[in-house]
Amino acid sequence: MSKKKVEHVHKYLLIKVGSYTKPERWEVYKCMLPGCNHYIPKPLALGRQCICWACGETFQIKKHRMLRKPTCGCRGKFKPVEFESTPLIDLLRG
Ligand SMILES: [Zn+2]
Ligand SMILES: [Zn+2]
Repeated sequence: MSKKKVEHVHKYLLIKVGSYTKPERWEVYKCMLPGCNHYIPKPLALGRQCICWACGETFQIKKHRMLRKPTCGCRGKFKPVEFESTPLIDLLRG
């Protein structure tokens, strides 16, 4: 009975669940890996490990990453903000 399940990092997809009797819907993250029925309410996904939908890497879900298909931030990255590191004096020296 104590057969240990193989743990894996879930690949979450945000879905809405509800019923005809209850008009309100709530969002859950469901694992999309084959054979896995795991799902958790959206708020509980915060801080969990998840597989990135873009690159397949494991990452921790942050609040601003709680999209329908969570990604680690590898896609749609903004260019890193780099402050001008060259002092003006160097430019003047040529
Ligand atoms: Zn899973
Ligand atoms: Zn990624």
